[in-house]
Amino acid sequence: MEPVEKRSKLDMSDVTRKKLDAVLQPITLSDDAVRNIIDIFSKHMELANNPDENTRKKSDLLMGNSFIRDLLDGTEQGEFLGLDLGGTNFRVVRVSFKDGEADTTTQYYTLLESVLCGPVAGVFDFIAESIQDFVNRHGLAKSDEKIPLGFTFSFPSLQVSLNQSVILHWTKTLRCPDGIGDDPVALLEAAIARKAKDLPVKIVAVMSDTVSTLMAGNYLDKKCRIGLILGTGCNAAFVEHISEIDKWTGDDKNPQHVIVNVELGSFGDSGCLDHHRTDYERELDKFSNHPSSFTFEKSCAGMYLGEFVRLVLVKLIQEGVLFGGKGGKLVEERWKFTTSHVTAIESDQGLSTANTMEVLNKFDLDTVATAEDIAVVREVAEVGSRRGAHWIAILMVALVNRVALPEVTIAIDGSLFERHPKYHNSMMEILDKFCPSSKVKLILAKDGSGQGGAFGAVSALRQAARGIR
Ligand code: BGC
Ligand code: MG
Repeated sequence: MEPVEKRSKLDMSDVTRKKLDAVLQPITLSDDAVRNIIDIFSKHMELANNPDENTRKKSDLLMGNSFIRDLLDGTEQGEFLGLDLGGTNFRVVRVSFKDGEADTTTQYYTLLESVLCGPVAGVFDFIAESIQDFVNRHGLAKSDEKIPLGFTFSFPSLQVSLNQSVILHWTKTLRCPDGIGDDPVALLEAAIARKAKDLPVKIVAVMSDTVSTLMAGNYLDKKCRIGLILGTGCNAAFVEHISEIDKWTGDDKNPQHVIVNVELGSFGDSGCLDHHRTDYERELDKFSNHPSSFTFEKSCAGMYLGEFVRLVLVKLIQEGVLFGGKGGKLVEERWKFTTSHVTAIESDQGLSTANTMEVLNKFDLDTVATAEDIAVVREVAEVGSRRGAHWIAILMVALVNRVALPEVTIAIDGSLFERHPKYHNSMMEILDKFCPSSKVKLILAKDGSGQGGAFGAVSALRQAARGIR
């Protein structure tokens, strides 16, 4: 990794530089740390793959078979729907295929905070009503045949079959008091029966957003073998040979591979990453929606990066390095400094400070900030973001090694990757250095998680027709 000294330096006094470096140096992951984290993660993948249930429980990962074996082959025809429930926006997607070409229409629906923390039935009622609205708007209400629908449900679940799973935890913005142990497909069917009973849809698949993003990425680039989400949350899926899955209990018909959802957000929950975590990550966890869980996700996902950067800024304020030691709202209010603020600051190029000033204005700090303060804020945003990008790239190294192909494309969906101007390059610093035998490419699969839901429905129907479990 580049030492702090080599980063794009903005002017500041030697004293400030020294104090800033002392705070930022421990945030930078060393090459030794990178190697160590790759090792620990690979071990947790092995544990999660073990046929013995008690051994599996020793893994932090809730890694599991998605049951999706088929990727698109370019012969697809007809109408499919995808749903994407991830935490903030809910999406309904219509995909019309003509000879394998996908024509996609997406509509966003925003979930209210009161729904996100209310009974789970309320969340699913909202989904059912949104599908009804979509179907009405797009003239699908009178379809003679039920439209096959793939449901992208982006919360940790235990997949039981293509269209059945069990919710294991809530993460991100969802805090329903109930729902754990329920099947999202059954919850949706019940909500449809309550709120939209004549909907012309048939739920044929439920999957993680990582799985649907992989499918959408593979549609764009046949070398895509990994799907990654870098949005509010963070997680990945990859294409695995069934012969490599020690706990495999399905059949061995062709195709010989299956998409595996890694559920890597919970990596570190056993404490195995504690020696690499910082006090900022510990404090952030303590005040998060779901304390003491989803350790890894809190190190790099969009829901948390802003708060991480804020806590580093607070430390510098407390040390008198920033804003003359007074940070007002920035110090007092947790979670108000968000990842979109970090992204805005990181979008300032060269000597321009317009975005940074606009962010500081939100915290009434624009009028007190000196040129040096602005330089410090920008560097903290840069180093904090780079740490997040490195964390996730490290796990991608392990997945690329596992896929073991000379060229691997990773398809990424999510607002953090889409909007952050430097995440791509920061991730590539790690991948270039630690994946010497594979050429890795990162592509954006914008809205891939919703579109891929519809693609998952295609696979489900094909597999059912061929009797593949
Ligand atoms: C969930 C994953 C999901 C990821 C990205 C995490 O909080 O646990 O299941 O894939 O967010 O949306
Ligand atoms: Mg999402």
